[in-house]
Amino acid sequence: MSRTLPPLDLHAHVATDITPRALEGLGAVVFAVTRSLDEYDKVSRRSDAVTVWGLGCHPGLMTAQRAYDEDRFGALLEKAAFVGEVGLDRSSRVPIERQTEVLESVLSAVAASPRLISVHSYRATNLVLELIAQTGAEHVILHWWLGTESETKRALDLGCMFSVNQSMDPVKLRAAGIPITSLLPETDHPSGNRCGTSPRQPGQTLDVERSIGAAYGVDPARVRDIFWKTFSAEVDTKGLFALLPPAVQKMTRFAQAK
Ligand SMILES: [Zn+2]
Repeated sequence: MSRTLPPLDLHAHVATDITPRALEGLGAVVFAVTRSLDEYDKVSRRSDAVTVWGLGCHPGLMTAQRAYDEDRFGALLEKAAFVGEVGLDRSSRVPIERQTEVLESVLSAVAASPRLISVHSYRATNLVLELIAQTGAEHVILHWWLGTESETKRALDLGCMFSVNQSMDPVKLRAAGIPITSLLPETDHPSGNRCGTSPRQPGQTLDVERSIGAAYGVDPARVRDIFWKTFSAEVDTKGLFALLPPAVQKMTRFAQAK
């Protein structure tokens, strides 16, 4: 392995029939979210070298939300290191009551069996925080967070982390009191990197490393090491090492020794 760790991407949308070679060609460790339990079920039989597939139930997807089943989710969770995309979305046609029911069930499962979890909160930031508080889910990763400053402070009190894409302003995050050690990078490909530097592809988080480095006054190369240390600490705290692909396991060990 080279001395430099590859970029991390904690939230990207990737076609589930992509070839393993194309994924490896991204040159990054990508956390690829799915939108439904069915979709996750399909990809869970893949064995990609540096891609971690998320167990998801997207709040914007009627069929996925209707079909959500707590027992099935629990069974699929056993072998999943990562949960996503889940959350709430007030612009969705799915009734907010159903979305809340699903997210509460997901967060409760993750409170009992800790996992990395990427949560969507579009126009529902306060309600998402309520559910996190209620269920006791720990170190939830709020993806593309747009909460107010007081909501951000509450999120920090609840131990939340934040995954940041190119469309977000890290200066605001710093001003709201978020330490760099509570941040992780994401592309949210193909939505979050629409205005990003090329190539616009999953795993291309160099621009996020740069903007966070500038906002926090840290060298971009050092920023990547910080992200890896944060990620590796989460893996250890949550006991997820064995659930990761072997190549990613090696990288977490390397990051910790660095
Ligand atoms: Zn997404």
